[in-house]
Amino acid sequence: MDLKQHIRGIPDFPKPGILFYDISTLLRNADAWQVAVGRMAHAVSKAQPDILAGVESRGFLMAAPLASKLGCGFVMLRKPGKLPGNTVSYRYDLEYGSDSLHIQEDAIKPGQKVVVVDDLLATGGTLAAAVELLRAVGADVTAAAVIIEIMALQGRRKLDVPVSALVTYE
Ligand code: 5GP
Repeated sequence: MDLKQHIRGIPDFPKPGILFYDISTLLRNADAWQVAVGRMAHAVSKAQPDILAGVESRGFLMAAPLASKLGCGFVMLRKPGKLPGNTVSYRYDLEYGSDSLHIQEDAIKPGQKVVVVDDLLATGGTLAAAVELLRAVGADVTAAAVIIEIMALQGRRKLDVPVSALVTYE
C-alpha cells in the first residue's frame, strides 16, 4: 500500500507559504492506519525498546498503539504546563522564539531503552530536543521513528540515533 495516498498536503497552514502534511486522512482510514502502525512496529522492533516516548500531540497517536502492539510502555513528552508532579524540561529553538518539552522525572528507569516517536521530521529540532530530554532522565535512546520525513530540511543530521520514516517528501 502507498501510504502517501492517504496523506494530504494543505497549503498555507498554519500560516501563508507553509505546506502542511495532514495525517488526519491516514488516521481515519482503518486499513491504511493499520498498515502504518504495522510498518512502524516492524521498523522500531529492531531497536528493542522497553519504552516508546511520544511527542505531543500527534506523536502520541502513533506511539500509543505501537507500544501496545510491541508490548512496551508508553511515555508522554509534553508541552509546558500539562504534566502533573515533578517534571524535567528541555528548551529548544524554533524559527521564531523557543519552545520546551517536558517529561515526568520518574518516567524512565535508568538505562531503559527508549525509541522516540513523532508524526513528522522537518528541521529535526523537536526530535533532537526529545532525545536530549530523554537522556537527561537516564534513558538509553536507541532510535527515532516518524511517519513522514521532509528530506530537504536534513533534520536527521541533528540526530545521533538511527531514524526510520514510513514516507518521505523532498
Ligand atoms: P521540526 O522540529 O523537525 O522542524 O518539526 C517537527 C515538528 O513539527 C513535529 O512535532 C510535527 O508534529 C510538527 N510539524 C511541522 N510541520 C508539520 C507538517 O507539515 N505536518 C505535520 N503533521 N506536522 C508538522
